[in-house]
Amino acid sequence: MSTFMMYQPLTSGSLIDHAARYHADTEIVSVNTRGGTERTTWQQVAHNAHRVASALDHLGVPSGARCATLAWNNRRHLEIYFGVGAGGRVTHTVNPRLSDEHLIYILNDAEDDVLFFDFSFCPLIQRLRPHLKTVKHYVLMEPHTDDIPEELAPLLFFDELLEHGDKNHRWPEFSETTPASLCYTSGTTGMPKGVLNTHRSLVLHTLSSNQPDGTGISARDCLLPVVPMFHVNAWGTPFIAAMVGARLVLPGAKLDGESLLQLLSSECITVAFGVPVIWANVLEALQNHPRPLPHFRRSFVGGAALSPAMTEIFETEHRIELVHAWGMTETSPIGTINAPLHRPQPLTEAHALTLKSGQGRPVFGIDLRLVDADGQTLPSDGKTRGYLQVRGHWVVGHYFNQDKSALTEDGWFDTGDIGTLDEHGYLILCDRAKDIIKSGGEWISTVELENVAVAHPEIQRAAAIGVTHPKWDERPVLICVRKSGSEVDEAALHLWFQARVPKWQIPDKILFIDTLPMSATGKVLKNELRHEYGQILMGART
Ligand code: AMP
Repeated sequence: MSTFMMYQPLTSGSLIDHAARYHADTEIVSVNTRGGTERTTWQQVAHNAHRVASALDHLGVPSGARCATLAWNNRRHLEIYFGVGAGGRVTHTVNPRLSDEHLIYILNDAEDDVLFFDFSFCPLIQRLRPHLKTVKHYVLMEPHTDDIPEELAPLLFFDELLEHGDKNHRWPEFSETTPASLCYTSGTTGMPKGVLNTHRSLVLHTLSSNQPDGTGISARDCLLPVVPMFHVNAWGTPFIAAMVGARLVLPGAKLDGESLLQLLSSECITVAFGVPVIWANVLEALQNHPRPLPHFRRSFVGGAALSPAMTEIFETEHRIELVHAWGMTETSPIGTINAPLHRPQPLTEAHALTLKSGQGRPVFGIDLRLVDADGQTLPSDGKTRGYLQVRGHWVVGHYFNQDKSALTEDGWFDTGDIGTLDEHGYLILCDRAKDIIKSGGEWISTVELENVAVAHPEIQRAAAIGVTHPKWDERPVLICVRKSGSEVDEAALHLWFQARVPKWQIPDKILFIDTLPMSATGKVLKNELRHEYGQILMGART
């Protein structure tokens, strides 16, 4: 290797050490699982991260071992994030909202040595423990307590474990392509698959996604990652916060609209991150109990489509910008973020609105293309719909424990999403390939139908699905949740659609239910809706 410039491996340890040295006193606020709020600093978090690594050395946990977490967003989780990975092991974050079957599969597939868990997951651990084949150390993320069921013994306590750790411990040296963290997909079709991020991919993701046209977080920000640390590294926010020394507020287990609103206001949050349903709940809380949020400027929203109607209400009524972003577990997750371009010729209002409602354009390090069903590249003309493929520095190559590449022959990852791209890379996602409605050979975007539905003042949430039809193969059916107190009916919504979409795209049926089934990662479970309502048009006249 040339020595003209210094070489230092890109590692997560360098991020936390930077925060400890140059942002030592910046506050980390953590809502505890058992109630109360704790305040610490980047320096104390870094000290504890070093203690985690050294305590794991004392326990004899080998380098490269997977250490799982079942935990909310809190400061101990943050210390594990850095201490495990920078200590040469792999932080394996596990989504507690998955089924027991998937959790057992994931923990055995990852062959975790250690399982760190929050107090609220004691009953879950009791159920899982008899089925876990490799876990040698169960660590409750608490000080020592006798307040735990007998069946959970033997058990280690996080704070006691750290007493055996050394805050001056030095991170081991290793290559930047060493694995740092492991996150499984949510497995809505088939079993979950593990995506193993390396230190290099994680640091490049952090650097690139935080550019001014990306998340643009600075040391002057106070961050609220509502997106859980148990799903795709909370979109990389702990690493971004450490890199720039931002103040970080970790919201714990209470993620309802009112609790979040409380934090947004009392902790002077400037920037937040969360899936659309979180912001729908915050909006409802805000409408029920209005309060000023003078510091809160913007939130990054992704994981599912953000409706333009919600963006507009936040902007016009509360001066809060919702920034739409796209990504997936396989892309670490940031792929695109919606930021405008400098345009010598201004766009028409309609074009600007269309682009604003989309998922944005790729950050440096991500490349996108569209292909047809035969894998032929399609034009990026802003009109042609195709299957979205991606490649880049933090995109999966092959899944954990699988020999086969996850990529196409020419090295791209097929996202399973369908959308359009324009010449600047602006992505507008129409659907998942498995959700798009195929009506008589034409595609109908469920996202577009849902956006029209939730723009209606009396509709809280909506999901469109393709339902088997005797003549057209599939036709759209819309399933809605009304706002409280509303009695809006099918006929009224039908008129609403008539005025807004071509006739052949109007849903054949509109149903109302109390709640939509949601996945562990904030997406509507459309396969459950298809299972329930998939045959309701079979008696339809052709
Ligand atoms: P996950 O791996 O669980 O994070 O899910 C990734 C999938 O979520 C993507 O492939 C998309 O289908 C969906 N998704 C993520 N962000 C968006 C977005 N902004 N709009 C619509 N769908 C999204």
